[in-house]
Amino acid sequence: MKLDVNALRYLTKDDFRVLTAVEMGMRNHEIVPAELIGRIASLKHGGTYKVLKNLLKHKLVHHDSSKYDGFRLTYLGYDFLAIKTLVNRGVFASVGRQIGVGKESDIFEVATEDGTVLAMKLHRLGRVSFRAVKSKRDYLRHRRSFNWLYLSRLAALKEFAFMKALEEHGFPVPNAVDCNRHCVIMSLVQGYPLVQVKELPNPDTIFETILGLVVRLAEHGLIHCDFNEFNIMIDDDEKVTMIDFPQMISVSHRNAQMYFDRDIECIFKFFRKRFHLSFDEKEVESDGSDSELNESCRPQFLDINKVSGCLDKELEASGFTRKDQDDMEKFVEGDVEEDLGSDSGEGEDEDGTACPINDATLDGLESLSLIREEGDNLQEGDSEANQNIVQHP
Ligand code: ADP
Ligand code: MG
Repeated sequence: MKLDVNALRYLTKDDFRVLTAVEMGMRNHEIVPAELIGRIASLKHGGTYKVLKNLLKHKLVHHDSSKYDGFRLTYLGYDFLAIKTLVNRGVFASVGRQIGVGKESDIFEVATEDGTVLAMKLHRLGRVSFRAVKSKRDYLRHRRSFNWLYLSRLAALKEFAFMKALEEHGFPVPNAVDCNRHCVIMSLVQGYPLVQVKELPNPDTIFETILGLVVRLAEHGLIHCDFNEFNIMIDDDEKVTMIDFPQMISVSHRNAQMYFDRDIECIFKFFRKRFHLSFDEKEVESDGSDSELNESCRPQFLDINKVSGCLDKELEASGFTRKDQDDMEKFVEGDVEEDLGSDSGEGEDEDGTACPINDATLDGLESLSLIREEGDNLQEGDSEANQNIVQHP
């Protein structure tokens, strides 16, 4: 799936109006009846169908006539809506090259008006695990608005809330700049994922720093749950930054100890293999193998039952509600287990069809100034997918 923002320049006010109408219709319909889109968009001179054909041409919507004549947003359509909103807010002005492909996200560089380069993470829940989403529908059956849009928006909202809170508590995370729909804007980390680092001058020190982070997180009431060499960035000055927060859980979670131990185990394993660190007998199995962390060494790090965090409670009071958390956990839990250590790769799009990873889709920064528009009657707030992700003054 490509993110070709060039098409954004040619989209008219009516195009965005109809695209937003499709998004709004998806509150209650997986496939939005064409006639309903027409009613929501209520273009002055009619012609919604013509606009839909144009959106279809640009792959911003998908046509489905299996049950009735209807449309739904594609990820690209959702991308365009988020990008347009953020550009209108002045958060950034142009989109650049792709810098990362996660399990369920695409990361691009974006640049502000004054040339500052930021990172844009577009969440794509359902890309890799669409079958898993389907099988998990049972959990969410009673939510009328459940769909991949909803899950991706939740993931972004959660990531943004957690990143902000972690930053406020002095954790080394990117600066959380803004969030809309499934899109999070954050500062660009000048470094590489640890998985790409072959040599470190002081692996022992880095190991201790990283392990210290997992423990400090838990002391604050949180467990990362995907703490591995793909989600730890390190720069030339050996500064460590942790990223990727949608799967974080509270220490009060019923499986907290297991997730905590697994995070710790990942770090041990990686440093043992990559940097040949050896650990004393208490910390590893006596045969020095890569098997699970020895039960007896757990308390050495932390007994999750004995910590009383504060950040997890703070976050409950933030925009990310307990119910959001529950929905996310039900969805994410299984995947975290399956996906550890396979943090990239080709996936499927929401249709379940093969979706090649974008290879440096966009060379150079493309100006998006043309997509700024005035006086659009359909307000951002009209759209459910857009409601109150972050309050803006
Ligand atoms: P996923 O949840 O899909 O695993 P991540 O947040 O881990 O996504 O991002 C995937 C990759 O994108 C990372 O491994 C990293 O290389 C890159 N990346 C993510 N965020 C940033 C950032 N703020 N600055 C620089 N690179 C980033
Ligand atoms: Mg990751």
